[in-house]
Amino acid sequence: MAELLTTIAAEEALRRFRSAEDSLASGNDTAAESHYQAVLADPGLRPLALVRLGEIANRQGRAEDSADCHRRAFEAEPRLAARITPADHGCHGYVYQRPLEVELTHCPLCMQEGRPYRAFNLVTNIDFIPGFDPVRLWMRCEACEHLFASAYPVDLANLLAAGCPEHHRYVKADLLPSLAPIVGELRRKSPGDRWLEVGVGAGELTALALEFGFEVEGLDIRTAYAESVEERLGVSVQAVDFQDFEPGRTYDTLVMGDVLEHIALPTESIEKAARLLTDGGILWVSTPNYQSAFSRLVRDLDPMWRVCEHLNYFSSRSLRTLLERSGFDVEDYRVSSHYFGSMEVTARKVR
Ligand SMILES: [Zn+2]
Repeated sequence: MAELLTTIAAEEALRRFRSAEDSLASGNDTAAESHYQAVLADPGLRPLALVRLGEIANRQGRAEDSADCHRRAFEAEPRLAARITPADHGCHGYVYQRPLEVELTHCPLCMQEGRPYRAFNLVTNIDFIPGFDPVRLWMRCEACEHLFASAYPVDLANLLAAGCPEHHRYVKADLLPSLAPIVGELRRKSPGDRWLEVGVGAGELTALALEFGFEVEGLDIRTAYAESVEERLGVSVQAVDFQDFEPGRTYDTLVMGDVLEHIALPTESIEKAARLLTDGGILWVSTPNYQSAFSRLVRDLDPMWRVCEHLNYFSSRSLRTLLERSGFDVEDYRVSSHYFGSMEVTARKVR
């Protein structure tokens, strides 16, 4: 008799779960939420129901509840990734483990206290790296409109140095025509020839800098990227963390393309850039902008929310504030033509 009751309960739970999925598909979060909550006692349905409840809470502006649901989903099913990613996904076999982390409650740019803003399950993103926490709580600083991850792995430097997503290693030749005008503009603004690129990636910007006649140097925290670009282009590319880079010279143009969002404490990096630039030198920064037209339009579907390596999410205001405080004048703001939602800011060292 007891077994029969269990079977009936499971069938009822499955029915409620399907109703929840239907409600979700038709955009009725409120109805979906009550159905998902009704099936939480079912061990088979609980993990997925918690994922959905986490997504609903996020849409409703309850970031802490959302993070809590995503956390409980992984605790209920450490192999949750196998249920929410396709079989050919790189992290399909991922087993949940909460890493040792450095927690941040205050804005890394202006030191004001942040408050929970959005939360996401990161494991579905193709760039997820085991060793990062798959539950991301984004904090918002009211004072400067900056977003920052509430925590990052203690082992961050090693994780970044070792991680090397294959799809980023290939040269994206189709980007060259859209990157060329950027380098042409930097050529026009730069007070001299000495170019430093922080985070060379596959080397597209570095190659263009050579084409435009710059004296080129680069660095990348990832040894594989640094070695590959150095060999391909025949220029010096050090495999080093920017904070540990001590060249003993200055540069006229310093380029940080899609780097700043990966750095736990971006203020130190911008101050370092200022030290490495000659007076009147040019800093070019490209980074995702959560207040971009793209991000505003697609909201939670913006993939940038789910990139585990992104620890900071700027607005044009928070980036400008950081640059101005570090001795730069912003000269140009553009929308990236190759990354949805990214901004490209050119600033000159004036102090
Ligand atoms: Zn702030």
